[in-house]
Amino acid sequence: MGNPRIKLHRGGIALFGMAVLVALLSSCSAAASAAHLSRGCREGRRVALTFDDGPNPTQTEQILDILQSHHARATFFDEGQAVEAHPEIVQRELALGMAVGSHSYAHGKDLPTLTRADFAIDLQQAEAALTPVLGYKPALYRAPYGHTSQNMLDELHAEGYVSIGWDVDSTDWSGATVDAVVSSVLDNVHPGAIVLMHDGGLGGGNPDRVTTIAALPRIIDGLHERGYALVTVPEITGAPAVHGHERRRECSAS
Ligand SMILES: [Zn+2]
Repeated sequence: MGNPRIKLHRGGIALFGMAVLVALLSSCSAAASAAHLSRGCREGRRVALTFDDGPNPTQTEQILDILQSHHARATFFDEGQAVEAHPEIVQRELALGMAVGSHSYAHGKDLPTLTRADFAIDLQQAEAALTPVLGYKPALYRAPYGHTSQNMLDELHAEGYVSIGWDVDSTDWSGATVDAVVSSVLDNVHPGAIVLMHDGGLGGGNPDRVTTIAALPRIIDGLHERGYALVTVPEITGAPAVHGHERRRECSAS
């Protein structure tokens, strides 16, 4: 017969071991989930507008003019091939304090179907376009159409990228009216929101992004009236824009 106090002691050690294991597992899953973020920290009334598919010589410049005149910042997910064509627009994005991330090289529809090695080729091609213009290797990535695969997420994580989704869709890609786009943002905004918008691209129901450009001043004014500060994705999530930089702080981003 064993000593019940020893049994209790052993039980305690076992419980302690379980607790350590659970803590390790949960910290691992937290690290894994940090590879993809679709919202920012809930602290404070802050929102991050994001613009995909640029840079575009007319549309992006108009959007930058609006952001600049409203003292607002945003995040641009740029396509590698458009960056090669218009590096000066990316430099203006940076000069105005915008954050810039990768949105693939050519907006391929098939990226989620690729092997990890083939996706890596597209990722590197986009990176080769962006890095000399930014002056650093980017660390933010938004998948075209928001469609990711495990291969994509694994490669992004290995290459030091954080995949950035959104949790408020402006619907500016859908052919919606200006009023509907404004309402889609203002009716759904919340602290920590990441908002999907578009500054480039020629597809969808808003090909020249006139809806986006008309809605943007009303969206910014509406957010300011509601007490929101417009910040970048790195600011709202803590995820770095620059490869190799640490995530700035832990928060309830997810
Ligand atoms: Zn896109």
